[in-house]
Amino acid sequence: MKVDISELKENRNASMELSFLEPVTLIKIGGEEITFNGPASVELFISNDTDFFTIYGSVSVEAFLRCSRCLKVFTFPLKGTIEAQYRQVSPGYEGIEDADLKVFNGNEIDVTSDIKEGLILSLPVKAVCFEECKGLCPTCGKDLNKGKCECKIEDIDPRLAVLKDLLKE
Ligand SMILES: [Zn+2]
Ligand SMILES: [Zn+2]
Repeated sequence: MKVDISELKENRNASMELSFLEPVTLIKIGGEEITFNGPASVELFISNDTDFFTIYGSVSVEAFLRCSRCLKVFTFPLKGTIEAQYRQVSPGYEGIEDADLKVFNGNEIDVTSDIKEGLILSLPVKAVCFEECKGLCPTCGKDLNKGKCECKIEDIDPRLAVLKDLLKE
């Protein structure tokens, strides 16, 4: 989404609020591909702070995440914060883009990457479909939420297991 800030530019200390739906497609993170259940709903507050424009807001969307225990895909409501500052490229200020101060040209600020960043930061470190998810059996792969399997989970330290085998001989 490109936000037209031409009116804001004319008045120092002016601000504007806007809300819109932003189409979000795939986000790739750590080898995992995350897709979304529809567009993200975005609310922004933008202010003219003389030397730069400050953007603050929120983004929310339902994401399809994969459970880190049972590998099932489930929907998870993401709610992220958007925070950015932009400075206009002008004669004498070509603007070196960095994480704290981004640059824009003309009358529009493209907030697409800020929305994406807000979503990425709101992702859970380890997604779980529900708090008590038992995950899959490491031996047979059965979903343990659907019942126990026949495998004996040996809780023996592998070094002790070697010792046990030696003693048998
Ligand atoms: Zn799970
Ligand atoms: Zn099993």
